[in-house]
Amino acid sequence: MKVTVFGVGYVGLVQAAVMAEVGHDVCCVDVDSAKVEDLNRGLVPIYEPGLEPMVKQNHAEGRLQFTTDAAQGVAHGEVQFIAVGTPPDEDGSADLKYVLAVARTVAQHMDKPRVIVNKSTVPVGTADKVTQAVATTLVERGADIPFQVVSNPEFLKEGAAISDCMRPDRIVIGSSDADAIATMRELYEPFNRQQDRTVVMDVRSAELTKYAANCMLATKISFMNEMANLAEKLGADIEAVRKGIGSDPRIGYHFIYPGCGYGGSCFPKDVQALIRTADGIEHDAQILKAVERVNDNQKSVLMRNIQRHFGDRLKGKTLALWGLAFKPNTDDMREAPSRVLLEALWQAGARVQAFDPEAMEETQRIFGQRDDLVLMGTKEAALHGADALVICTEWQAFRAPDFELIKSELAEPVIFDGRNLYDPDRVAGRGFDYYAIGRGLSV
Ligand code: NAD
Repeated sequence: MKVTVFGVGYVGLVQAAVMAEVGHDVCCVDVDSAKVEDLNRGLVPIYEPGLEPMVKQNHAEGRLQFTTDAAQGVAHGEVQFIAVGTPPDEDGSADLKYVLAVARTVAQHMDKPRVIVNKSTVPVGTADKVTQAVATTLVERGADIPFQVVSNPEFLKEGAAISDCMRPDRIVIGSSDADAIATMRELYEPFNRQQDRTVVMDVRSAELTKYAANCMLATKISFMNEMANLAEKLGADIEAVRKGIGSDPRIGYHFIYPGCGYGGSCFPKDVQALIRTADGIEHDAQILKAVERVNDNQKSVLMRNIQRHFGDRLKGKTLALWGLAFKPNTDDMREAPSRVLLEALWQAGARVQAFDPEAMEETQRIFGQRDDLVLMGTKEAALHGADALVICTEWQAFRAPDFELIKSELAEPVIFDGRNLYDPDRVAGRGFDYYAIGRGLSV
């Protein structure tokens, strides 16, 4: 099938690549000409495991093209995906200006029937706004061309985006038009062979499904962080509690890891956006507000432990920081807990020697050159001459480090672990002060 994707960010580029991989003919349109130029030269602007070879091969074989020319994109695909950003507006609600701009662009250029598919995460009612924007633009042009607007939210996880899209848990299609549903089923057929993963529903339910999914996941994290804070004060070990509750299949082990807060481009903004949607219909979203409050508080947990240890000796200290990305296997720094920690450390007069396997370039771009942040080439180099080690992201490469080396490089043998990577007794046995989350201090 011929498909067009507007927006080559994390979602649009991955979706375009996997569709080309199974044989669809995909044209990507983005307003960012630098990104489009890079992609046409084989440079993939984001890090996502498996993405670069897939993009390069499908581009070379002609099934994946990149352009800034919207008219070319609209002429290409019978299906037009909208996969542009929906950042928070000033009040936290989702800003739809990019989504509606694409809707108008499609309407300006279309000369044949089109299925317009919204893949961006958008509030309930957005399909109606997209329909309105397309219809109004067509009327202004004096054109009468049939179109359908479908909601098809994306559930990929950054860091595992390719496998999530090649083997989706579910494909949500929000539409009540039989032809549009048939088109979507055909498009996704190659990803749906083992078992039919398609869930067809009305468009509003599809829009809410995406928010409900992200808000449920964020709730699990904040719930566990609340339990971790209780465990800390009650002298219990949250890791034992986690195993104890996860064994109940009604609860399960997934997504119940305590830590230093959730970040990324989705959970914070989607929780906030659903709170605003609820406000708009005079519903007080009490659970969601608590989820957000707990998370804001949790992003300071590492700093609280650091202050607990160093007291007023923090000024002038150097902290080694392992992990900058908001989670492993991505270079995404949006809303990362590491950013809150960095700002707090700088405020307290400390400096940071940081290492992340993928997010260093992004960190440099965000913070620029500054004396109190040095980006180091390896995790070992980050330790050199530092006073203590802090861990923000659970990269695999941090799970079994050389503790003797850490001890010999640090001025004080102390580790602040925001991801509970180590066994407290073992680390304490090696002579460290070990601050984990919800496990107390081990010495
Ligand atoms: P992103 O910021 O990485 O990419 C958005 C892209 O859209 C950018 O390249 C931008 O230049 C482009 N764009 C903006 N206006 C455009 C226009 N008028 N025409 C063409 N291109 C335009 O965003 P993302 O992370 O891919 O997220 C996109 C949407 O998908 C958001 O609504 C997000 O909430 C949702 N989502 C994201 C994830 C994720 O893990 N990142 C997962 C599921 C859903």
